[in-house]
Amino acid sequence: MIQVNQVSKSFGHQQVLKAINLTVPKSHVYAIIGPSGAGKSTLIRTMNALESIQAGEILIDGISVHDKKTDINKLRADVGFVFQSFNLYPHLTTVENVAIAPIQVKKVPKKEAEEKARELLSSLGLGEKFASYPGQLSGGQQQRVAIARALAMDPKLMLFDEPTSALDPEMIKEVLDAIRKLAASGMTMVVVTHEMGFAREICDQIVFMADGKIVEVAPPEQFFSNPQSERAKDFLAKVL
Ligand code: ATP
Ligand code: MG
Repeated sequence: MIQVNQVSKSFGHQQVLKAINLTVPKSHVYAIIGPSGAGKSTLIRTMNALESIQAGEILIDGISVHDKKTDINKLRADVGFVFQSFNLYPHLTTVENVAIAPIQVKKVPKKEAEEKARELLSSLGLGEKFASYPGQLSGGQQQRVAIARALAMDPKLMLFDEPTSALDPEMIKEVLDAIRKLAASGMTMVVVTHEMGFAREICDQIVFMADGKIVEVAPPEQFFSNPQSERAKDFLAKVL
């Protein structure tokens, strides 16, 4: 479970998160949508301490993310993060990319970590690509390796920041299918996305952000058919 309590953050003079409150229960999938510059990436990045905060608190299963006493490596192992760009190690094979963090951070024996990496890659449709290097893969394949790499740490939850926005249209589906499967398995997830159809189909709640605030939180059927705020109506008129 993720609890965001009264979180505020500024970059210099600009306040980009304004007293944000949000609770994501276990096994729920929340989509964060909203216009560019709304603070979506900043918010999701605060959830695994990639960004500091100036006020409020974020709890992941009761552990305070920004508390100085919190073990940040343990926290990051529990919170899988997948970015728009895949950030794979170019000189490592797919199996090595997926196995490296469990080996180095969790001290899992190499053989065991690589066995699990092969299982994860197979489950994501990459069973033929164990020996390939990132440069030999399509964008969609690389993004699925990035998802496998996050899952290799046995995270309690997964955060995605526009996981498909760097992909060609024909590769978007394979990555969304992978996320859909994770949702079905009961993984707790927060997904920043511009894919409205996907948000509507798999997410339990839509979180609409604008100007550093959460403007609306509603189930997809309600949000897309009957948005309450003018800001959301305006946004949907542009994107749908
Ligand atoms: P997009 O849909 O374009 O990805 P977003 O909702 O993810 O937008 P953020 O990236 O969270 O928006 O940015 C929110 C605001 O914070 C923007 O005005 C941005 O310019 C500013 N900002 C983000 N990161 C930094 C930074 N490292 N330093 C200064 N300002 C930043
Ligand atoms: Mg962003």
